[in-house]
Amino acid sequence: MGHPVTKFIFVTGGVVSGVGKGITAASLGTILTARGLRVTLQKLDPYINIDPGTMSPYQHGEVFVLDDGAETDLDLGHYERFVDVNLTRASNVTTGKIYSEVITKERRGDYLGATVQVIPHITNEIKERIRRVAETTDAEVVIVEVGGTVGDIESLPFLEAIRQLKNDVGRRNTFYVHITLVPWVSGSEEYKSKPTQHSVQTLRGIGIQPDAIVCRSPQPLGAGVRDKIALFTDVEARAVISVPDARSIYEVPLLLEASGLGRYLAEQVDLPVGPVHLEPWERLVARIHGATDRIRVGIAGKYVELPDAYLSVTEALRHAAVAQEVGVDIRWINTETLDPADEGVFAGLHGIIVPGGFGHRGIEGKIATSRHARRNRVPYLGLCLGMQCACIDIAREAIGTSDANSTEFNAFTEHPVIDLLPEQRDIADMGGTMRLGLYPCKLVPGTRAARAYEESVVYERHRHRFEFNNRYRDRLAHAGVVFSGTSPNDRLVEIIELRDHPFFVASQFHPEFRSRPQRPHPLFLALVAACMDRAGVSIEPELPGDAVAPATV
Ligand code: GLN
Repeated sequence: MGHPVTKFIFVTGGVVSGVGKGITAASLGTILTARGLRVTLQKLDPYINIDPGTMSPYQHGEVFVLDDGAETDLDLGHYERFVDVNLTRASNVTTGKIYSEVITKERRGDYLGATVQVIPHITNEIKERIRRVAETTDAEVVIVEVGGTVGDIESLPFLEAIRQLKNDVGRRNTFYVHITLVPWVSGSEEYKSKPTQHSVQTLRGIGIQPDAIVCRSPQPLGAGVRDKIALFTDVEARAVISVPDARSIYEVPLLLEASGLGRYLAEQVDLPVGPVHLEPWERLVARIHGATDRIRVGIAGKYVELPDAYLSVTEALRHAAVAQEVGVDIRWINTETLDPADEGVFAGLHGIIVPGGFGHRGIEGKIATSRHARRNRVPYLGLCLGMQCACIDIAREAIGTSDANSTEFNAFTEHPVIDLLPEQRDIADMGGTMRLGLYPCKLVPGTRAARAYEESVVYERHRHRFEFNNRYRDRLAHAGVVFSGTSPNDRLVEIIELRDHPFFVASQFHPEFRSRPQRPHPLFLALVAACMDRAGVSIEPELPGDAVAPATV
């Protein structure tokens, strides 16, 4: 059913940020994929960093890692989860990447004779990156989300580039969606369309006429407000879409579909669509709402006031819970303020996750969390730093010293259970020592990990610098640790677990990045099953047919 011409859907945001632009862009992907189309997505981020890898979670939330090791914006996590694609580094473009490329070309003499300017050199480079996504995938539709809000200085070159693309690729091949907030004003008891009008005016001032407007509001908007927005913005009334707050983000594709946006879009750009198959999403949402039993899982980290910092972890946990028809309540445990003597913070938990992280803040709290889970037989899943902290905890007890550590936190520790590899040490000063992206992991038959995956080799995404120090393998094995996953040559420890514990599994990689709502990750499924056991909740004997598949490439 292939289409000779790629269609480009551009998604911009107005009024304020944080109204779910990424989820809406991703959901557009869902409803087009549900029509049998091949869809890919791209995010254009206006900041000057080359990628978000160096940014604090306070600035940016989680860094999402792709198969190819690209460190990207968390919206790419939404895209992968909603469209079930594996994206590549081409899908996240930043101002930093664009300028860096243009300056490299200038130095190389590619522009000899020319004054290098924002228009056309920067805008051409942006357009080139957008086109490259279309050329390097077999996508029939490319959804391009522009980060930030219309009116920001930083996003102007991106908006200018997507404006130009309309003429470059043909008017029937582009579609512009503008997402705005329609606020409720309690004084006059009504929804106000004015901010949307102004935002569209700004967009039109740049030369972009939106084809559809997605209005975000707490409750559904009535025809009156939508007609008014249509009138003032020159958008057809049926293309002014109301998307009210949903109980679960996974409802947004169903809300978008019900609004008619998918049909309208397909008609406007002549997409060769098949019938809409959203049944898996309907089943997913029914299961989310159908869950009656609940489990309580603690997540121990230092950004507890900022759940976006652990977005993929909470989503992966929810995918696994939904598949087993159980609700999950998350309790955030602040590892910086945790008092190891106060076990009260762990009271009533059915499971604990210690997620990834960098730097020494909160480390002792994470080690104490592992100790609590170990000694009290609470199901534990350690993710990257969560594995490293578990190893430190076990080593301290096994060796009988409080000095076991990672050299990340104490360069002079006597027992560097977690350390750089010798070859990394030589180049540490030059940076570039991070293990990023997909690596194979060989599983030891009969272990909990192997039983969870039902595979012998799995591929998982990494983002870390430090590794388990093999000098401590024997001593930890003695203490009950099973090294259930390693690199195929056995050199790198990838998964550890405890022999005599209901569920204590920790991985050097980040399983959360490969979990999908329709295909929960085996390790999260196993954790949730263990939590249900502890909570005394019976496990649904039958997993939904579309629910479980091993996370291999
Ligand atoms: N800071 C640790 C390392 O670099 C763990 C990183 C992580 O949890 N992603 O090895």
